[in-house]
Amino acid sequence: LRTKLPAVGTTVFTRMSALAVEHSAVNLGQGFPDFASDPALQQMVSDAMRAGHNQYPMMSGVPALREAIAAKVATLYGHAYDAATEITVTSGASQAVQTAILCCVHPGDEVIVIEPAYDCYLPNITLAGGVTVAVSMELGADGYSVPWHKLAAAVTARTRLIIINSPHNPTGSILRESDLQALSDIVHGTDILVLSDEVYEHMVFDGARHESVCRHADLVARSFVISSFGKTYHVTGWKVGYVAAPKALMAEFRKVHQYNVFTVNTPMQHGIANYMADPKPYLALPSFYQRKRDLFREGLAKSRFTLLPADGTYFQCVRYAAISRLDEAAFSEWLTTEIKVAAIPVSAFYSQPQESGIVRFCFAKKDETLQLALERLSSL
Ligand code: PMP
Ligand code: GLN
Repeated sequence: LRTKLPAVGTTVFTRMSALAVEHSAVNLGQGFPDFASDPALQQMVSDAMRAGHNQYPMMSGVPALREAIAAKVATLYGHAYDAATEITVTSGASQAVQTAILCCVHPGDEVIVIEPAYDCYLPNITLAGGVTVAVSMELGADGYSVPWHKLAAAVTARTRLIIINSPHNPTGSILRESDLQALSDIVHGTDILVLSDEVYEHMVFDGARHESVCRHADLVARSFVISSFGKTYHVTGWKVGYVAAPKALMAEFRKVHQYNVFTVNTPMQHGIANYMADPKPYLALPSFYQRKRDLFREGLAKSRFTLLPADGTYFQCVRYAAISRLDEAAFSEWLTTEIKVAAIPVSAFYSQPQESGIVRFCFAKKDETLQLALERLSSL
């Protein structure tokens, strides 16, 4: 068998969640909430089913949902997408990422990825026949940052796409206005496209604002902007997300989309469209998660872990040098099986072996789950 992804195994999230279940560990590994979503949202989906919204919707998604997305993006970030031609509802952000890559990356094209990177980018670049060019973030006293001069130096005549992700999984760092300006300067005058993974757009803390590429006229004209209702509405298992892009790019996206999923399940699209009429749930998200972040950080500050900054997402990265000399994968497994708290090794987010002595915890959990984990982590 001539395999297409010889270097790929089972994802670290699947493996660590299975280990957590096997050892009855508190699962702070894979990123998902352990609390319920809003019953009002669930009711709206069930109402949509009962109202008969159960057949194929339009290929690009239910119009009311695309319109709600366009209105939200315009209000929050000031860019007016045409809901008819520039927004497509996807089966989670994952399908949006894959479809965006497949529709624009040709064999031999280079795609610049900033590492550590969420794990779905690289395999999809490989499937498209593209070549990943990895640029590592730098870790200083203020946390992780993108060395834009190194990214600029990585650009060649073959560069087709640059993938950015803010708020960033796994580091919890966020891009600032100056970062987007640096990116804009790099791509100016080229035909390089941008894939901006903004699934954690509503999890930005300490009064900072989310720097969507939609705020940046030069970038938005060449970008696929991707988000996910799974993160925003605490329903990761629903797998509903979207992509926004200028009309010409979206036309190419839809050519692929119509043949990999064709369209996305109908009742959830109606339910989410209705629920979006009220902005309060997503506007409340920064303070909701900031409180959990602070609770978790205050507990960890009393432990022998060293906290890294956590400006966005629902992830907290920590150093464990004072506790163990194991590598990140071995330490995460030991933590899961012996201490009964699952974590994710940050080394899993690099294309080449890289050990930083850092693991990632997810704090999208009930307070009592976090307290139980903190008791165990503080015993080390
Ligand atoms: N991008 C990032 C950065 C993520 O963390 C995730 C979810 N883990 C995704 C994309 C995929 O989102 P979805 O579950 O909506 O496919
Ligand atoms: N995005 C989630 C995380 O980073 C995991 C999603 C998955 O299991 N693929 O933990």
